[in-house]
Amino acid sequence: MNKPLILVVEDDAPIKNLITTTLKTHDYKFLTAQNGETAIREITSHSPDIILLDLGLPDMDGVDLIKKVRTWSNVPIIVISARSEDADKIEALDAGADDYLTKPFSVEELLARVRVTQRRLAAMQVDTISAGSQFHNGSLTIDYAAGCAYLGKQELHLTPIEYKLLCLMARNVGKVLTHKFITQNIWGSSWDSDIASLRVFMATLRKKIEPDTDSPQFIQTHIGVGYRMIKVE
Ligand code: CA
Repeated sequence: MNKPLILVVEDDAPIKNLITTTLKTHDYKFLTAQNGETAIREITSHSPDIILLDLGLPDMDGVDLIKKVRTWSNVPIIVISARSEDADKIEALDAGADDYLTKPFSVEELLARVRVTQRRLAAMQVDTISAGSQFHNGSLTIDYAAGCAYLGKQELHLTPIEYKLLCLMARNVGKVLTHKFITQNIWGSSWDSDIASLRVFMATLRKKIEPDTDSPQFIQTHIGVGYRMIKVE
């Protein structure tokens, strides 16, 4: 895949310079916007492949910008936020952001998030070509038509909820899914009791798919936020 075009939406000059210098050093193409209005103009006229979005903009709340963009575009959005509170991250993810970085962040962390998003974009393209009847991720395979999942050649014996959970994570591979998003998709509600059940089902699913549950290969936990399926290289 070619290097993606990245739109950097950030009003804080030192942080914007850190990000753009990093992108330049790694041969990424980028555009910048220092407020929400300019960001929307750049998105509509240049269709960037990835957006790095600061939540605290001078003219608009970043979460409102995500909601606006999501009415017409699925472009991956990585939120960059000074707010370390989980509630803000969760609000941004529920509004349609794909991932988040909390300030202060390291350059390596920023590049890692961009690579995760690139892999997700590449996986989405492959899915479109193969019409998505099967999902492959490392040794994990889901045969949607047969309703079966395999680890290598071994069929996994999953309960209906574990299977549903695995398919939901797979369909959103690379993206951080909040507890609320997952429980609403699985049970149609998001009570505290659903989130407690989710933890239990996630633990049993992981025992079945992770070779080593102490260093999970497929499903990452984002404490207080949710889970993400990693696209294995
Ligand atoms: Ca700001």
